[in-house]
Amino acid sequence: MQDFFVAEGDKSFRGNQVYEWLWSKGAHSFDEMTNISKQTREMLQENFVINHIRVDRMQRSSDGTIKNAVKLHDQLTVESVLIPTPSRTTACVSSQVGCSLDCQFCATARLKRMRNLNPDEIYDQVVAIDNESRLYFDRPLSNIVFMGMGEPLMNYKNVMKAVEKITSPEGLGMSPKRITISTSGVPKIIKKLADDEAKIKLAVSLHSAIDEVRTQIMPFNETFPLTDLKEALEYWFSKTKSRITYEYIVWKDINDTKEAASALVKFCKYVPCKVNLIEYNPIDDGNFQQASSAATDMYQEILERNNITVTVRRSRGKDIDAACGQLANKSA
Ligand code: SAH
Repeated sequence: MQDFFVAEGDKSFRGNQVYEWLWSKGAHSFDEMTNISKQTREMLQENFVINHIRVDRMQRSSDGTIKNAVKLHDQLTVESVLIPTPSRTTACVSSQVGCSLDCQFCATARLKRMRNLNPDEIYDQVVAIDNESRLYFDRPLSNIVFMGMGEPLMNYKNVMKAVEKITSPEGLGMSPKRITISTSGVPKIIKKLADDEAKIKLAVSLHSAIDEVRTQIMPFNETFPLTDLKEALEYWFSKTKSRITYEYIVWKDINDTKEAASALVKFCKYVPCKVNLIEYNPIDDGNFQQASSAATDMYQEILERNNITVTVRRSRGKDIDAACGQLANKSA
């Protein structure tokens, strides 16, 4: 932008002014840029467009969770979620319209990938939720998880640009330690993430530590089998020393056996980690059913006996289809 203004015979700081309007003040039109002359604003209007996102519809769950349907400049929609707890506000943001992967139990996977989100479209989702957090909960956003629509590691460059902006002082100045990227497990890119020293946290949607089972529920596991994932995670830990979170759903007749739980324990020994047992949110085709609470208890007991930290995560925002795996633009 500085170069543009200099080429136009103007001052380079004009670029800084426009940048500040766009990124710090969230301007949606050139007209709002009141410290810039009318003539320059008209020139900008003729040469550029501001492709800002628009929160098209906001829904509030009875548990306080907020879901935004976010319209993009090309009329496609993604969803992002604000999850409040007594001590924190977490933004769950999308990285793609639809998803590149094919997890059989996830509603977003059915949408197929339409396109990657740009860095600004990711950043603006975070800003929208930060504003809602201040408005409804009287506090700024405290954490971000890339667990909305899409596979963040299949849109790596743009996700990292957004992270850079979120953590930079001119952006939200947030600590990268409060940002978690959740991936289905793309080994090559996990290694790249380790090399890039982004200092963010990593979560992996594991769901099974047995290749045949994992391939059945997450077919891309055929291309990226567990040995490759293990090797990438070992590399991640050797570089970052940051503990990994495994997300894991226990389903009836799929992975609710002792054998499956033992396989998970074995996988957990490879690198320091914790396990998050997540509740299954049905996506109405009946192929997957949450296992009995006895099965979840069995997992918890076996993991704890092996000194592996385990938490059981209750779903939030189910009544507005805002829970994990339910984001599918139903209201769009
Ligand atoms: N693609 C990334 C991030 C999006 S999914 C990933 O796979 O990690 C966010 C989390 O929701 C993942 O752990 C995913 O496995 C989980 N999930 C998907 N469908 C679900 C469902 N129906 N019920 C509960 N969790 C689901």
